[in-house]
Amino acid sequence: MSTSLVLRDKASIWHPFTQQLDTPPPIPIESGSAAILVAEDGREYIDAISSWWVNLHGHAHPYIAQKIYEQALKLEQVIFAGFTHLPAISLAEKLLHLLPHGFSKIFYSDNGSTATEVALKMALQYWWNKSEPRRKKIMAFTNSYHGDTFGAMSVSERGIFTLAFHDLLFDVIFIDPPADEHIEQQMQVVEEYHEELAAFIYEPIVQGAGGMLMHHAKGLDALISQIQARDIICIGDEVMTGFGRTGKFFASEWMNHVPDIICLSKGLTGGTMALGVTACNQKIHSAFASHEKLKTFFHGHSFTANPLACSAALASLELLEKEECKKNIQGIEKSNQQFIEELLPYARRGLIKNVRSIGTILAFEVNAGKDEYLNTTGPVVMEKALSKGVYIRPLGNTVYIMPPYCITEAQLSKVYRTIVEILEENPF
Ligand SMILES: *Cc1c(COP(=O)(O)O)cnc(C)c1O
Repeated sequence: MSTSLVLRDKASIWHPFTQQLDTPPPIPIESGSAAILVAEDGREYIDAISSWWVNLHGHAHPYIAQKIYEQALKLEQVIFAGFTHLPAISLAEKLLHLLPHGFSKIFYSDNGSTATEVALKMALQYWWNKSEPRRKKIMAFTNSYHGDTFGAMSVSERGIFTLAFHDLLFDVIFIDPPADEHIEQQMQVVEEYHEELAAFIYEPIVQGAGGMLMHHAKGLDALISQIQARDIICIGDEVMTGFGRTGKFFASEWMNHVPDIICLSKGLTGGTMALGVTACNQKIHSAFASHEKLKTFFHGHSFTANPLACSAALASLELLEKEECKKNIQGIEKSNQQFIEELLPYARRGLIKNVRSIGTILAFEVNAGKDEYLNTTGPVVMEKALSKGVYIRPLGNTVYIMPPYCITEAQLSKVYRTIVEILEENPF
């Protein structure tokens, strides 16, 4: 059966981030339950990366499924220009309550890339609406990742993912994320360009696709404060870091200074439905509150604020607010810190480096000679882990885990043991 699914898949499907030749066939997954994925051949895998960082409460969660089902029987979708509905309103109210203080409007789209595209367009049109033609440049962090559409690619690190498009991406000013509280180097760049800068976009505290790189909260806080003092719009891309991943509800809570715009997706629906959110403060919104038609924000997607996705998000937020979930997040955080102690001897032996963790994320680099994304460390670790019943998918030579919050202690220690076994085998 499995072979037949793989053959049918191969005949008709083009998978994301997947080389079209020389790649092992995909594993057909039939079902999921909590942190476990069940393959069509009956094999079980612990989903240690939350299916690309989206899943919070486990797979096929009955409460979220029930809420989606109930909503589907009532209203599955409606155009969102000129119409509205209760799930979208309730979710917006809820998010404004949960977001750091100062946000006033929720703009819906349907994934993380659209959430960042919306943020960039909002920030650029903010200055256009205010008749400030010089404010056109965007600043971003080196090693950033904000999505795969053109605007999102433009503000992301120029790397192998974007190589084929470099000529077509708009110019962005890149600065390094702060390694400590010293931000003199970054501020030199800000001073040089501040009159032309429309916005600064950043992944707060953890840069995900760039390699789970963690930076300094105090330094970032100082940077945001200095940048906002020059009237540059700050966009916090919390598509990955939102909803408890870094140990705080939003990673922006590690800082005192709040961005003007926040992007959310991935965990927003608990990882069940595609939904994106771009939240903004009053200052941004007021530049669009005009009688002039040309100051309208002409942006929308067919599935903007899809009622099923909004219902799933409301259900996920309910689960997130439960004591049990908060305890689980703290439990993972504590276990990760203990596991770091276990990894340190391998770092001392030079096998791995930069062992780090924050909240439910733990990461380290394998010393595989070169640091390139395309080296074989990733596929080797993934294959070895899969053979032991654990799904991890390194980013280049960065091995990381980011499990669903419902992962059990036994499952988490199996993930740890698997990593240690692979390090002991040293197949690099
Ligand atoms: C994944 C991600 C995106 C893009 O989200 P998609 O839903 O995959 O388009 C944007 N920003 C960050 C920080 C991400 O991790």
